[in-house]
Amino acid sequence: MAATGEGANHFAIGTPVLVYGPWGCGLCRYCSEGRENYCTHPSGVRPPGIAVDGALAEFLLVDSERHLVPLGTLDPVQAVALTDAGLTSYSAVKRSAPRLGAGSVAVVIGAGGLGHLAIQIIRALGAATVIAVDITEDKLQLARAVGADHAIIGGTDAQEAIADLTCGRGATAVFDFVGSQETVGLAGAVAATYADIVILGVGHGTLPVGYRRLPFEASVRNTFWGSRSELWEVVDLAHSGRLDVEVEIHSLEEASRAYKRLSRGEVLGRAVIVP
Ligand code: ZN
Repeated sequence: MAATGEGANHFAIGTPVLVYGPWGCGLCRYCSEGRENYCTHPSGVRPPGIAVDGALAEFLLVDSERHLVPLGTLDPVQAVALTDAGLTSYSAVKRSAPRLGAGSVAVVIGAGGLGHLAIQIIRALGAATVIAVDITEDKLQLARAVGADHAIIGGTDAQEAIADLTCGRGATAVFDFVGSQETVGLAGAVAATYADIVILGVGHGTLPVGYRRLPFEASVRNTFWGSRSELWEVVDLAHSGRLDVEVEIHSLEEASRAYKRLSRGEVLGRAVIVP
């Protein structure tokens, strides 16, 4: 933290901090619970770098101290992805965590910036067997390296491969970080009775829900980012040594190249711009 404005006195200047991203109004029902990602104010959620200025710069103007979380001894370049990829994954997995005990199976579709953290969070919060699905071998290697029990190539054979790995029972929870028509279809097809199907990817795929369209008692939910208190939990998890964030670092001048690599699916883990 480089400077403070009037009335901001909770953190000393120089304190390393992370910035919570989905800024809400701070006063509505959900914001009062720290779930600013679901703020109901008409202005909606206003993240820095998306709705207001910030992010790709040397300094970021933060609207309230409540959006700061102490970084402690974590390396800022490694930890910055905790605020988006880490928090989004953690929030989704945490709600399904009570179901992910021994004998359960979690499928992670997309082993990129979010998915490679989700695999580690599933491992940290439960005892599920983790099956990762991606379309490139380097992402599957990353998935194995961060703790996936199985990593299988996406496509026409993925459904059968997951059926084999679960002895036909299907997955207890499916986390789809792609969200395309193909992947949400796979998520529905591999879900077990009582499964959680969580769609996080922004691929605009749709999953039909209705009598016998999905396994009985299956739940489908979509999620957006996470709460302020969950970011504190993600940081604690990182401090415990159970989150290894894969990053590739770019200078500000290389930012457009990083975005191009991202759009081509070439980024392994998360791309971080360091001004
Ligand atoms: Zn609000």
